[in-house]
Amino acid sequence: MATQLFVPNFRIDECLEQIRECLEKGWTGLGFKTLEFEKAWTEYTGLPHAHFLSSNTVGLHLALRMLKTRHGWSDGDEIIVTPLTFVSSNHAVMYEGLHPVFADVDESLCLDPADVERKISAKTRAVMFVGIGGNVGRYDEIVALCRKHGLKLILDAAHMSGTRVEGRHVGYDADVTVFSFQAVKNLPTADSGMICFADAEDDARARKLSWLGINKDTFARTNAQGAYKWMYDVEEVGFKYHGNSIMAGIGLVQLKYLDRDNAYRRQLAVWYSRELAQYPHVRVVDHSEKCESSRHLFQVRLSNRDEMMFALNEHEIYPGVHYRDNTQYRMYAYAQGTCPEAHRASDEVLSLPMHLGVTAHEVAKIASLLGKHAK
Ligand SMILES: *Cc1c(COP(=O)(O)O)cnc(C)c1O
Repeated sequence: MATQLFVPNFRIDECLEQIRECLEKGWTGLGFKTLEFEKAWTEYTGLPHAHFLSSNTVGLHLALRMLKTRHGWSDGDEIIVTPLTFVSSNHAVMYEGLHPVFADVDESLCLDPADVERKISAKTRAVMFVGIGGNVGRYDEIVALCRKHGLKLILDAAHMSGTRVEGRHVGYDADVTVFSFQAVKNLPTADSGMICFADAEDDARARKLSWLGINKDTFARTNAQGAYKWMYDVEEVGFKYHGNSIMAGIGLVQLKYLDRDNAYRRQLAVWYSRELAQYPHVRVVDHSEKCESSRHLFQVRLSNRDEMMFALNEHEIYPGVHYRDNTQYRMYAYAQGTCPEAHRASDEVLSLPMHLGVTAHEVAKIASLLGKHAK
């Protein structure tokens, strides 16, 4: 049997029950389950607001659009970002005509506060932090830096569904936190995401902007009394970014299992770490002791990473790479050479199979292959 990096685990009967409910009711779109899921997400995370979207990518865009317009940022203003992320994070900055300034990462593979501080200029408006693999890294120092310099903080929490610090779910101290419920993330639907603003006014505006700027959602309109249901107003040019009830129904089921699933991921991490401790050439990327990590990823660093990929593939083990240094992409090449640590990591990191179907036996087998081939 092949061992893949990620395999989503759907509770099929329960998901079908949710979908059936939508179909029988004749309500598959915005409203109904999307509202129920938003409520469940605020209860789960303790975050004050949550708005369900069609993906994390659109959420990051919405976050930047809203911050830019609310605070009067100009085209070309700077957002400090990380080169070790999925391109969504940095594209979202580009969508708004803002300028991604890359700061380097530290050994957690998350932003290094010292380099972030070095890269702050008169044009810096915000920092976007990515919690790689569910890890918080030195996020608390980034929060402090943003407060000190009057910068907004966007948390790309695509990997962080279920990550807690001192019992508290991450995101409460960011201006906006965006989650992904894409199929390989910890809470898999098919494609969807959640945007969580700290501020109630921002949340209300996000609801309008994610539905073309219309100031009332369809569900509320359909259920409104009287003949003027179509008399909504459009206040600004919005987007079609909201999520739908089919995805929300699946999300409601998956949320019930999120903590249990994450506990198993942490168990896998313990097994990997224990097995790999005997091999000095395999450097484990540890997660901060401060957090109970969602453990989206288990990453190691190897000087012969590419060779190792092939060696594992021969045994039908298919690890991944998170991520290629984004400054190596043509469109971000202007920043080449500005983040040497991220560049080094990009050549060395390997993400080992991490999903609910991986067994202790497979972990031992993968670890011994790593030990055998590591240089
Ligand atoms: C998956 C991912 C995204 C994009 O999420 P979607 O829901 O697929 O749009 C953004 N940032 C990071 C770090 C991701 O891993």
